[in-house]
This record gives sequence, C-alpha cells and structure tokens, in this order.
Amino acid sequence: MSLVTLRRQYRNGETTPSEVMARLADTIVTRDTKTGAYLSHDLDVALKAAALADLSKPLGGLPIGIKDNINTLGQPCTCGSKFLVKNYISHYDATVIVKLKNLGAIPFGRMNMDEFAMGSATENSALQTTSNPRDHARIPGGSSGGSAAAVADGTAFAALGSDTGGSIRQPASHCGVVGLKPTYGRVSRYGLVAFASSLDQIGPLTSTVDDAALILQAIAGYDPQDSTSLDVPVPDYGVEIDLGVKGIRIGVPKEYFCEGIHSGVQKNVESGIRQLEALGAVILPISLPHTEHAVATYYVIASAEASSNLSRFDGIRYGNRADNPADIIDLYHQSRELGFGSEVKRRIILGTYVLSSGYYDAYYTRAQKVRALITKDFKRAFEAVDVIISPVAPTPARKINSCADDTLQDYLADIFTIPANLAGIPAMSVPCGTTAFDGSDSLPVGIQILAPHLGEGIMLRVAKAIEGLSLP
Ligand code: GLN
Repeated sequence: MSLVTLRRQYRNGETTPSEVMARLADTIVTRDTKTGAYLSHDLDVALKAAALADLSKPLGGLPIGIKDNINTLGQPCTCGSKFLVKNYISHYDATVIVKLKNLGAIPFGRMNMDEFAMGSATENSALQTTSNPRDHARIPGGSSGGSAAAVADGTAFAALGSDTGGSIRQPASHCGVVGLKPTYGRVSRYGLVAFASSLDQIGPLTSTVDDAALILQAIAGYDPQDSTSLDVPVPDYGVEIDLGVKGIRIGVPKEYFCEGIHSGVQKNVESGIRQLEALGAVILPISLPHTEHAVATYYVIASAEASSNLSRFDGIRYGNRADNPADIIDLYHQSRELGFGSEVKRRIILGTYVLSSGYYDAYYTRAQKVRALITKDFKRAFEAVDVIISPVAPTPARKINSCADDTLQDYLADIFTIPANLAGIPAMSVPCGTTAFDGSDSLPVGIQILAPHLGEGIMLRVAKAIEGLSLP
C-alpha cells in the first residue's frame, strides 16, 4: 500500500497509526525472516509515537524505514558493519529525520545495507543477508538493499536510502520499486554517515512516484548544518507531477545502450521510450561521450573520500575497541583489522594509494578533471533536452554469491548510475516491466530518468507518466 493511500485511510478513520504499527511489526515477523531487510526495529518507541500521531500533518502517523547509516536518536546506526554493532547508539537525529518527525512521520526500522554503503548487492553487509522478495535466490541490489526489499515485500510502506553511485536507484530497479536520488545539496547530509561526501545524497524508496514526491518534499531544503546544502527554495513537487509528457524533449544517450546490456532490459526500456513518444514526448538521440570513463573516475574519487571519512573509525573516536592491544598503534591496527570487512578495506587501501604523494596527480587530480568533463557532457546535453532516459542497470538482479570472487563485475555494472552522482544531477529509477533472465522468467527492470540540476519537478512528471504505461 502506498503512503498516500494509507494517509487517506487514516483520515477516513478506516485504520489508526497504532493498528498499522502493530500490524507492521507482525508482518516483519512473518515475512522478513525470509527477506532479511530489517536489521532492527523498536516497536515500543513507534507505538508511543503512533498514539500521539497528528493526522492533520502531511505525514501524520506514516511509518518510514531508515537505512542503517542515517542517525536516528536513541537507535542503532550500524552502517551494516561489525565495527558499530556493539557500542554505538545515535545521540542525535539526522536533519532528514528531524524533518520527517516534524511532519508527523514515524521512523520505524533500521534497514540492512552494504557495509558503509560500499557495494551493489547488500552482500557486503557484515550483519545479515538480504534477499530479493521477487526471487529469494537473488540479490536485492545495493547498497540500500534492505530499504528496497522491504518496500517490495510489503514490510515497509516507504524507506530512506542513500545514493553515492547508484545505491538508491539500482536496488529500486532490482526490486521493482521507485527510487529517487536528489540533486547534490537538495537534501541535507547532516547525520548521514559519510562514505564519499561529494557524491552522497539521501533519498526515498517507495512503491509509487507520488510517494517519492511526498517524501522528497518533506526532506528537501536548506540546512546550515551541511555546508554543501543548497540555499534555494523547494518548489511544490505536486504542481507539475500530473501534467504528462506532451512536448517534453527526452534525450536517449547512445553510450547507455551499449554492449553488455541484457536484451530484455533494452527491450523494456525501448518500449517505455516508444510509449512516451506516443504520448507526445519528443525523443532525441544524444551523446554523453565521457561515459566510458565514469566507473574508473568514480572508484578513484569515492575511494579517496572514503579513506579519509573512515579514518574516524579507529576504536578510539568511534567503533569497537580491540581487547588487548600492545600500544596505541596496535590498538588502531587491531580495531580496524577486526572491525572492517574486506570490501571496506579494499576501498580504504585504494583511496589511500590514490591520495598518496607521488600518485595524487596521476590518479586523484586526473579523476577530478574527468569528473568535470562528465559534468560538462550533461550540461551540453541539457541545452537540447529536458530529461535523459536510460536503463538503470545492465541486467536484472543476479543470484546471491554469483559475483563473490569478481568484485569488478559489480563495479562495471554501476556504469549507468554513477554519472549522475559525479555531475550532481537528480536521477530516479521507475519500474519498467519485467523480463526473463538467467533461469528466472520474471524479474523487475528499472528505467532511469536523469534531469538537470534541481530538475526534480520535471523528473517526477516523466516518472509519473512512465508509471502509467503498460510495459512487458
Ligand atoms: N555500487 C557503488 C559502490 O559500491 C555505489 C554505492 C552507493 O551508491 N552507496 O560504491
């Protein structure tokens, strides 16, 4: 059920927040044992909030799942890592949580994720496996895999995720739900545990486009506590969402329909584009020539920032402390050795290397230059088109453990989502039918809409039109 429908039911007196919270907790017990989307939840706190819910508020009494890297007062915030399991409880609310609470929402449940948001399958969670509710042998995508899986499974009405290189859009695509990454700076990062600060954004995973707009409306806006927050007014996203696509110029980048993309994904996305054309959209071929360098650029920049951000997890400032260290250096060594999983260590090593003297210019500075070229590609493209459409991921969800020795395959599959983060533009994933893949006859496919800086309004409008199409 969507948030909008639930809100109507509250207002009509058909159900109450207390009833819904209790039912949700039961559903988590019966269904989530199989899916594993929730790391924890606190029903007592939620029931107290439900009893006091003000239904006249825009999100009054609506429960929202929270990715476990967004601080919520009094709750755990493990980031999917062993490092933070034992002794970290948030002592403050992230700005997005303050905003949700002020509008009446009830943050409920901590959603599983790849450790420190590094990954595309939620397989890098050090705490538990999450499966894809559309086929439990498969990954839900990642890193916001718990958020996407819970919405797809009906164990959450909506959830927050974070997206550094695709971590909202790709799991949304794999699970058949809606996922929105806002413009960099549109939503405050204050209280989000940083992975790569120049790329991270918080956004919603929902069952409908209207719900995505509702949550974006709630969490967007200037925050003096985040120095990269944009001090510009937030438009009313409801105003243009239903206006349709007549006359809208849609760019289709040739670099996004490349070798390696699964035929079913390509077919569904092309069918979506043709149907939008039939509704009056103008389809224009475009080129984003630096796309092929996006993955390499991202993995240099994101790892560099991660190696710096994660230095605070040392067993002294944050994280579990090793038991019997010989001295302070040994304490750091042991705590980090035991605390971090192998993917996180790989990124820290890579990031430290590209920032080290003698290599800095060859890797980090160079990556920043390519980042500027990728941004310029989009600027040029958006002079001729209003939005860009592409696939979200080259294939539907793969099987769990099928990439264990080959991390590079997962890195390469980020090709369509990473450019939006590098350029700081908004992008979203909307369900685009299903396809047969690798022994499964029906797996969700996502279509991606990319819009210019602060173009969330037109992006949602196209997304809403896509939601109404009839797709394979
Ligand atoms: N898959 C990408 C990575 O592993 C993106 C992660 C994200 O957006 N948090 O870095």
